[in-house]
Amino acid sequence: MSLSKAAFTIDVEDGISIAMRDAFSKQSEQTDRVVRLTQRILSLLDEHKVKATFFILGKVAEKFPELIGEIAEEGHELGVHGYHHRQFFCMSRQEAFNEISCAKKLIEDISGQAVWGHRAPAFSITPETEWGLDVIAEAGFTYDSSIMPINGIRYGWPDFPREICKIKTPSGYELMEVPMSTIQILGRQMPVCGGGYLRFSPEWLTQKAFEMIIRERPAIVYVHPYELDTEPYPEYYFEELRKARFLKRNKMKSMWLNRKTVYPKLEMLLTNYEFDTMISLVQKRKTCQKMLKI
Ligand SMILES: [Zn+2]
Repeated sequence: MSLSKAAFTIDVEDGISIAMRDAFSKQSEQTDRVVRLTQRILSLLDEHKVKATFFILGKVAEKFPELIGEIAEEGHELGVHGYHHRQFFCMSRQEAFNEISCAKKLIEDISGQAVWGHRAPAFSITPETEWGLDVIAEAGFTYDSSIMPINGIRYGWPDFPREICKIKTPSGYELMEVPMSTIQILGRQMPVCGGGYLRFSPEWLTQKAFEMIIRERPAIVYVHPYELDTEPYPEYYFEELRKARFLKRNKMKSMWLNRKTVYPKLEMLLTNYEFDTMISLVQKRKTCQKMLKI
């Protein structure tokens, strides 16, 4: 059986700024760490001659347009990861439309490249926010990659197909969906190819899970630049962390665990498997898929 190609995706956001707002309700600027860490990923991809898909936060593009130009110049695909990193659960239809269409226009203007793909912050397209798929199609995206087909606490759409599929949105638009990769562990679907799941799994398990997925379908790897950040955060972050309640403090600390293992795991995947951009995977499947009414 031939193995499917995988896609390597990066959600480009500044971890410090998002943590300050979401955990401590403090507004802070995107820091230039997002630039340095994204450049580290760019070098890694260049070493392995892999083209990837970067889902960019509008606020990052606004503050660091030269980074967007650099990603585009190296031949990678650019997508949208919202403008202010607002989850679909917290927005009206109109707010969601403004959020993603402004980010799309900004990234297209800076890069001179078309933007086809969208990824919602925190995989916030679920049965509860399926109207978001209408909005994503209305904003002119060809594909979305925001659905985690698991029965999760914060997100998830457990009975969503696991394949890249052409869907008809609730208002009847056509949209391609690239669901995130999962494997079955002890009777439950579990994500394995990104975020905390990638950080906490030992490398052998990541590789085994990856092999299982690509025997059947493309694996979708996702990573955030801040997951490669092993330098201490600035003092203003620790000031807020010290004031936080015990549970929140521990939750925030857990975001730091195992970060040193992420880079070697990404190297292992890039060395052993073939990757393509999301739009290439989508285009290969666009014509041969039956329409799914969700
Ligand atoms: Zn994000």
